[in-house]
Amino acid sequence: MTVRTRFAPSPTGYLHIGGVRTALFNWIFARKHGGQFILRIDDTDAERNVDEALAPILSGLRWLGIDWDEGPGVGGPHGPYFQSQRAAGHGAAVERLLASGHAYRDFARPDELDEERKAAQAAGKPYLYSRRFAAFDDAAAARFATEGRTSVVRLKMPREGTLVIHDAVRGRVEFAWEREQDHVIQRADGSCLYHLASVVDDHDFAISHVIRAEEHLSNTPRQAFIAMSLGYPLPAYAHLPLVAEPGSRTKLSKRKLSQYLKNHDFKQVMEHGQRIAERIGLAADADTFNPVIVDFYREVGYLPWAIDNYMALLGWSLDDKTEFFSRDDLVRHFTLERINSSPASFDPKKLWAVQDHYMARLTTDEKLGLMLPFLVRARLVAEPPPEEAVATVRRVIEASGERLKVAGDILGYADFFLVDEPPMDDAAVKQRLAKPGVRPLLERAIAVLGGVDVFHPAEIEAACKGIADAAGLKIGDLIHPIRVAVTGKSVGPGLYDCLAILGREKSLARLARALPLCG
Ligand code: GLU
Repeated sequence: MTVRTRFAPSPTGYLHIGGVRTALFNWIFARKHGGQFILRIDDTDAERNVDEALAPILSGLRWLGIDWDEGPGVGGPHGPYFQSQRAAGHGAAVERLLASGHAYRDFARPDELDEERKAAQAAGKPYLYSRRFAAFDDAAAARFATEGRTSVVRLKMPREGTLVIHDAVRGRVEFAWEREQDHVIQRADGSCLYHLASVVDDHDFAISHVIRAEEHLSNTPRQAFIAMSLGYPLPAYAHLPLVAEPGSRTKLSKRKLSQYLKNHDFKQVMEHGQRIAERIGLAADADTFNPVIVDFYREVGYLPWAIDNYMALLGWSLDDKTEFFSRDDLVRHFTLERINSSPASFDPKKLWAVQDHYMARLTTDEKLGLMLPFLVRARLVAEPPPEEAVATVRRVIEASGERLKVAGDILGYADFFLVDEPPMDDAAVKQRLAKPGVRPLLERAIAVLGGVDVFHPAEIEAACKGIADAAGLKIGDLIHPIRVAVTGKSVGPGLYDCLAILGREKSLARLARALPLCG
């Protein structure tokens, strides 16, 4: 059997981090078995402009390296891949279900159904429709129609027995048919409902494995009933555990961000991202800039593989210890059987640690390629980047080492090298410069650094140590004020590297410029 999996997002305008996990597992499973991964767009209920609402989903998947073999932009033998364009097939399936007696036209009015529901409630019984207005033949249908009634199509669900499915994650799952309503599959206006469309499309696309979020488990009986009634073989099912809030078992939700920011590690991640967003002129509103959605990570400069690797561990593990996987290893080792059924709590700190791991392993050139665009967006480097600026940024990256955690961090580490007069951070000035005794120290530094033979980090370091020793000070008492004087702030690459990258002339000019601010 050819393995064919699918990810079926609705065009919502954003790619939820939980959706990434679903897409990723489908993708990995298809790749592992040499099968195909299909992207289907569930746009039957779309209220918004579909192209617009789909764009962030497609670009997010592409950025994460989750490529699809069939679907929007790629085509394929089973197209169209937009559910709204497959209505004819859905309608034909409804006709077949009517003809075979697995569905019926129902002429009940909403108030009549309500009455039944209330009566069941009053009697303390589970509600099941009496089928009083069901038309099982044309004569009945004609009679109801003359009463001015309109009809929907409902499934004629079994009322006894059980459905057993073997879920690859959950094992044997039983559903009692008596708990299933006669679900509507076609509205009065002839449009079909999602579950019917989904089953028909999965079959038409020859989907072998339906791997999806746990919340769809309860839809499985009605979908299986539709499939079986149409004579389709059932796909294999795997219902993935919930992607839960940090430290919780509740589903992670985009709308609950303000709550997360108060209680969780999201706050730190979010604030870090916001500082970067401000520099590149990004509207940091909660709708697009939200760590529950993928664009956030992309804008801030996370590595796509760090996200994939972390998401793969949300519900799946190879063993108790392996945390880092190459793409090939993940594809090789992945099995549905090793997916855990309990909720997997999303931990921004852990993602941060995985990001840190991969960032630290990039070469300087790789980092340069990722980071330059941030500097261009922040207008710190021209487009195309001039050679001199590229050389400076390269040296900053080397000097910053593992302090650069996400690509956007370069903004705070390189900015003061790229402008003539960096702004001075008031708090840093107050803490490090505006103190008695600092001015003569900086004057001394200007004199000594002016005479250093070669302006390289080691020589600069030796010179600074000489000044501190002669003044009977700790080295920190000297390098903190020098740093603030030349960079305008307290964080950045090592000071000796900073001075060497800036060069003697600029370093001395900046020290001199800072003298009036000193105590
Ligand atoms: N469009 C559905 C969703 O976004 C897909 C459900 C399924 O995978 O069957 O949740």
